[in-house]
Amino acid sequence: MDTVQQCDHQAALVVAVDGPAGSGKSTAARQAAIELGLRYLDTGAMYRALTWWLLSQRVDLADATAVTAMLGRPRLTVETDPRAPRILVDSADVTGVVRGREVSNAVSLVAAIPQVRETLIAMQRQIIAAAVAAGTGIVAEGRDIGSVVAPDAAVKVFLTASEQVRARRRSADLSADPAATVATTQREQARRDRLDAPQMVLAADAVQIDTTMLGLDEVVAQIVGLARRQAVAPHG
Ligand code: C5P
Repeated sequence: MDTVQQCDHQAALVVAVDGPAGSGKSTAARQAAIELGLRYLDTGAMYRALTWWLLSQRVDLADATAVTAMLGRPRLTVETDPRAPRILVDSADVTGVVRGREVSNAVSLVAAIPQVRETLIAMQRQIIAAAVAAGTGIVAEGRDIGSVVAPDAAVKVFLTASEQVRARRRSADLSADPAATVATTQREQARRDRLDAPQMVLAADAVQIDTTMLGLDEVVAQIVGLARRQAVAPHG
């Protein structure tokens, strides 16, 4: 009986995972979605994909009017299978290329434009609503999920970690790029933190987890534990 009840609640569960670059949120959110049997939405990938496309069109990212005028052009497709999340721009699979440094160093400019946020947040809300309507539930991760995109999410987690650890993790992710040393990554990360600060809105009811000393498994276990407790006692 308990198990059935748990599955029912869990099916339409929305889990918000927010935090800065290198806090471990992408990997942890994706793994938690797999363990919980939920869909997975990487909202950062949407800002990255749009930025990638704008760069490919040689749009001046500092020109908010020019960026806004292009907003209806690329067709973003977000696939939310946590075992194989993909993002496509028109028909191009850009899942891998958008993680690179060129996009990372440009994306904050695009993400700061109000019309960009309005457009992408509307898409994110639609994806989340569709997952809930389909009874599959979803783990959504980003900077403002628990506060702006999905303030009604049943579970809200905010991951943090020391600057050094975040830079080390991100540099390891970029090991194919010899220029992405820990020192360079830390410098670029500090700049991105500064530019992203206005977008990173901590929800008052989010559970903060400092991942500096934690392994991925421990972070995932904490998120899964919070989600399962919510599934058993949804109003608790
Ligand atoms: O999470 P990730 O590092 O992939 O995000 C890339 C960028 O997208 C961030 O640096 C930020 O500028 C933007 N972003 C945002 N709001 C979100 C997710 C990402 O502004 N919810």
